[in-house]
Amino acid sequence: MLRLFIRNARQFTNTRRLVGNQVFFPVAFFSSKHQLKNHKMSFPLQKSEDEWRLQLSPEQFRVLRQKATEPPGSGKYDKTFPTEGLFCCAGCGEPLYIANSKFNSKCGWPAFFEALPGKVKRIEDTSFGMTRTEAVCANCGGHLGHIFKGEGYPTPTNERHCINSVSLRFHTEHTFLDGLEDADKQD
Ligand SMILES: [Zn+2]
Repeated sequence: MLRLFIRNARQFTNTRRLVGNQVFFPVAFFSSKHQLKNHKMSFPLQKSEDEWRLQLSPEQFRVLRQKATEPPGSGKYDKTFPTEGLFCCAGCGEPLYIANSKFNSKCGWPAFFEALPGKVKRIEDTSFGMTRTEAVCANCGGHLGHIFKGEGYPTPTNERHCINSVSLRFHTEHTFLDGLEDADKQD
């Protein structure tokens, strides 16, 4: 079952491999600890604020649960481009993006051109006097970043999912499956 998921995810991405050089487009991205209005959405994984504080590092808590943004160029996944593996939610562990959907946007944050189906929810964000699309984990509601469209990047979707590194945890296929097997043993 799990291996089937990985295989399907890989096939999904193999149809969308990137080619050619990336194009740089300057973007406005606001770094702030400003908390967005709490949206009234419920997510499958529910934890109290105290539980999240215990589980997450202070920086993870600020970004995932309070919608802060890490400083540009500071994230550990900003300039890494693995060819295989999964970028998972740092809050709940759900796979969000496959490695091959990451591209070099040069915007200062990890950029993906599409999420795994159903794994990332889009929410309208009207903070800072503009309308943007917030990306959150569909399982735990953790803030990931924002989604921008039509910027002209030579990707299959013409979308840029601008995601905080601190919201992500990268797993190779091997470590992802090991983690799931460890979780199975604990059940
Ligand atoms: Zn999550």
